[in-house]
Amino acid sequence: MTEKEDYQRQIVEYGRKMLNDRLVRGTSGNLSVIDREKGIIAITPTGSDYDQLSIGQVTLMTMDGERMEGNAPSSEYSMHLGIYHARKDVRAVVHTHSMYATTLAVLGKSIPAIHYMVTMLGGEQIPITPCYELYGTQELADSAVDTLGEKYHAVLLRRHGVIATGASLPEAFRRAAVVEEMAELYYRAVAIGEPELLSVEEVQAVAGKISNYGKMQS
Ligand code: 13P
Ligand code: ZN
Repeated sequence: MTEKEDYQRQIVEYGRKMLNDRLVRGTSGNLSVIDREKGIIAITPTGSDYDQLSIGQVTLMTMDGERMEGNAPSSEYSMHLGIYHARKDVRAVVHTHSMYATTLAVLGKSIPAIHYMVTMLGGEQIPITPCYELYGTQELADSAVDTLGEKYHAVLLRRHGVIATGASLPEAFRRAAVVEEMAELYYRAVAIGEPELLSVEEVQAVAGKISNYGKMQS
């Protein structure tokens, strides 16, 4: 398998995972990974049926959005490209319409520091884009890039869904799943009461510790 095919294989694998883990339904959502050394992006084709997607169908494109191989790219390719151009630390992008996160997104609500795991997404909240923008537009791409800024790893797209980033596809995927977990927790908590939010000091204490989470002590 060539390197290019391996990136395409990752897209097939994580597309299926996204469907099986119920982060998307049907053909919604999309994901990509970049080889920064070669300047090649592998991205789901538009309207991908994740169960049926084959390696050869996965789109390969340049950083300028020129298609090299595979089917027509996701309608959100400008959002993926925009993030890769703006954030050199990002090597994979996952976009979902996961149910709880999208419920908050259609209500125009960001997710505050309800739980220490919110800080895994880069800050004291999971922010939401300021305005609704039509899917597949440069306006949506710009708004996602602006809201991610330099520090966040995930944002809610107002009245649309979620965008999550990572240094690898497994990391971007894990973060998209954490966004959904935090959204479900927030939804459930506010349904029966008023959650106690972490203070600024508590958020800072987690931020100093969580980068080492899950790593073996030597
Ligand atoms: P694509 O099938 O074109 O990737 O679009 C899905 C989507 O979620 C658009 O926002
Ligand atoms: Zn979408």
